[in-house]
Amino acid sequence: MREWIVAGNWKMHNTIAESIALAKAIKEGTTTIKNGEVVLAPPFTALFSVGETIKGSNVQLAAQNMFYEDKGAYTGEISPGMLKDIGCTYVIIGHSERRKYFHEQDQDVNLKVKKALMAGLKPIMCVGETDEERVKGITRSVVDRQVKQGLNGVEKIDNIVIAYEPVWAIGTGKVATPAEAEEVHKFIRGILKDLYGSMANDIRILYGGSVTKDNIGDLIAMEDIDGALVGGASLKADGFLGIIKNISGKK
Ligand code: PEP
Repeated sequence: MREWIVAGNWKMHNTIAESIALAKAIKEGTTTIKNGEVVLAPPFTALFSVGETIKGSNVQLAAQNMFYEDKGAYTGEISPGMLKDIGCTYVIIGHSERRKYFHEQDQDVNLKVKKALMAGLKPIMCVGETDEERVKGITRSVVDRQVKQGLNGVEKIDNIVIAYEPVWAIGTGKVATPAEAEEVHKFIRGILKDLYGSMANDIRILYGGSVTKDNIGDLIAMEDIDGALVGGASLKADGFLGIIKNISGKK
C-alpha cells in the first residue's frame, strides 16, 4: 500500500514572514490527517523558519534543489548535509525549471539523487516531456531516458519519489487529463519494475502540472498516481489544503 504525498513547491516566492504564515496555516489545517504525507518546499531563505513553524506536526520540510558535493568552493550552492542540518527530509531534484534555466542534465540529476540518498535525504526526482516532445510523439523515450539516467547506479529506491511533470502543464493551467497522466505513470512504474522488480510497487509517483483542488480528485483516482507536486496552488493555504483534503479522502 503506497502512502500518498502532497508536496508544495513554493519556488521563488514568499518572504520569511509570508512563509511562516503559510506554513502555520497548513500545519493547522492538517492536524487531523491520519494517512499520507504533506511536504513543503519553501525557498532556501525560509527553510529554517518554516522548519521551526512545522516542528512536531504532520508536515515535512523539503528543499527545492541542492548541489552534489559535500563542501568546498562552490559559491552559491547548498550541500545535502546543510539541508539535513536545517531539518529537511525531502529534496526536489531535476525540476524542469532547473533543467530549463540552469541547464541541468540527466547526469547532474543522477549525481544529486545519489548524493541526497547518501546524506539521508529523500529525493523527489522530476521527469517530464516538453510540449514539443509530446507533439513529436517521443514522450515515452524522453521519460524513459530521464528515469533510467536519473537512477543510474541507484541500487535501493525505497526512499525515492518520482514526480511526473509534463513541462507543458507546469504553470500553464493546462492540466494533463487523468488518462494522459496515468498512461505515463504506468509506463514509469513499468520502467521501475524492469529495474527494481516488485519493489517498484512501493514507489510513489506524483503528478505535477497545474494541479488545483478542483482537478485533483479525478487525477488521484488513477491507480498509479500517488499524490501531487504542486506549484502555484500551494501558495494559498485554502487551495493547498483543498488538494490535501481531496487526496486524503480518495487514497
Ligand atoms: C511545479 O512547479 O512543480 C508545478 C507543478 O507547478 P504548477 O502546479 O504551478 O503547475
